[in-house]
Amino acid sequence: MKVLVVNAGSSSLKYQVIEMNTETLLCKGGIERIGIEGSNLTQESGGKKYNVEKPLANHTEGFDLLIKCLTDKSVGGVLDDISEIEAVGHRVLHTGTDFDDSVLITPEALKILEKNAFLGPLHMPANIACVKSCMQVLPGVPNVAVFDTAFHTTMPAYAYMYAIPYEDYEQFKIRRYGFHGTSHKFVSQTAKKWLEDNGFASGRIVTCHLGNGSSITAVKDGKCVDTSMGMTPLEGVPMGTRSGDIDASVVEFLCNFKKMTVGEVITYLNKKSGFLGVSGVSSDSRNMLEEAHKGNERARLAADMFTYKVKKYIGSYAAAMGGLDCIVFTGGIGENSDEMREGIVKGLEFLGVELDKAENKKREKPPVREISTKASKVRVLIVPTNEELMIARDTRRIVKGE
Ligand code: ADP
Repeated sequence: MKVLVVNAGSSSLKYQVIEMNTETLLCKGGIERIGIEGSNLTQESGGKKYNVEKPLANHTEGFDLLIKCLTDKSVGGVLDDISEIEAVGHRVLHTGTDFDDSVLITPEALKILEKNAFLGPLHMPANIACVKSCMQVLPGVPNVAVFDTAFHTTMPAYAYMYAIPYEDYEQFKIRRYGFHGTSHKFVSQTAKKWLEDNGFASGRIVTCHLGNGSSITAVKDGKCVDTSMGMTPLEGVPMGTRSGDIDASVVEFLCNFKKMTVGEVITYLNKKSGFLGVSGVSSDSRNMLEEAHKGNERARLAADMFTYKVKKYIGSYAAAMGGLDCIVFTGGIGENSDEMREGIVKGLEFLGVELDKAENKKREKPPVREISTKASKVRVLIVPTNEELMIARDTRRIVKGE
């Protein structure tokens, strides 16, 4: 069974074709600058990379080009005919409060996605445009929505509620939802299996997805019980350009002192804060750490704020779950930065965490790598994430009715 995985961002569209009987990646690609001058598609297959430049006004035009390129051998297309695609899995940002799992996109389900578009004004219109294009270009092929928020729908109300007047939760759905759910689900499932296969406890796992955007999730007996992002991805730990948790009154101070509108403050908190805002150097953790090593104090401070906050989330989730069996690191920073990992777990010895420093420094990336010592009471693992494979697995499960 060949599954097309589609991941649409506000001006981008990434895709993969995966043969699901063997879970083999056949080809992958991406379109950038949709709706902006200079849009182009890159496609990779058989170890080669191809580039197609074409003006693309919107996601529908982008999707049409993608479909053509999949069967065009001169640009690395891997299909003889587009009918080889048996199902399409779409990464969709938001479930709202309507779904708790991935779902087959029927006309009714599509209406619900449209109703919830206001919850993700940057991503949801792009997600919906791709679903509609797919329905036109590949009639009869099932489309499955795999939601970024679905894994977090098992959170108890006391974890997802904000302590604001209850009727505003009821009327406007103001609550915490969490994001990166597909990644947290993939790495927690992978870690759980590894722990069970190796005879370790697996009931209380904290997954740390640390990249440009970062979130931490508490996974108890395979289910999410808390996560650090909230109504939007702004809440939680400091990120590349996001502030993370902040007292909401700061918004009023910024409006007064800097004569900003609320919208401008929200952009400032999402795009100008975090590593970039504190260090003044870069939103990229590598550049920031390089500067910190040269003695740049603000870069050091930004890095320390990050490791401190991730540590606090791990500690609070250990409290939420009544203990801790495993910490999982994933995402660009989680998978690659030994320095950040060491900074995060330092001080968690009281929970039984003992890092194997030599193992932590190694660069290999198997599906699971343990970086805790044999004596450690808590397993510390690196699990490279694979959101596309998780989407393809869910798509197959939903289509096959498993
Ligand atoms: P996104 O959230 O956009 O998917 P990624 O998961 O790709 O982001 O993570 C990007 C972050 O990962 C950047 O801060 C980058 O510096 C960091 N990163 C990527 N590769 C490495 C590496 N080899 N060493 C240290 N940090 C890395």
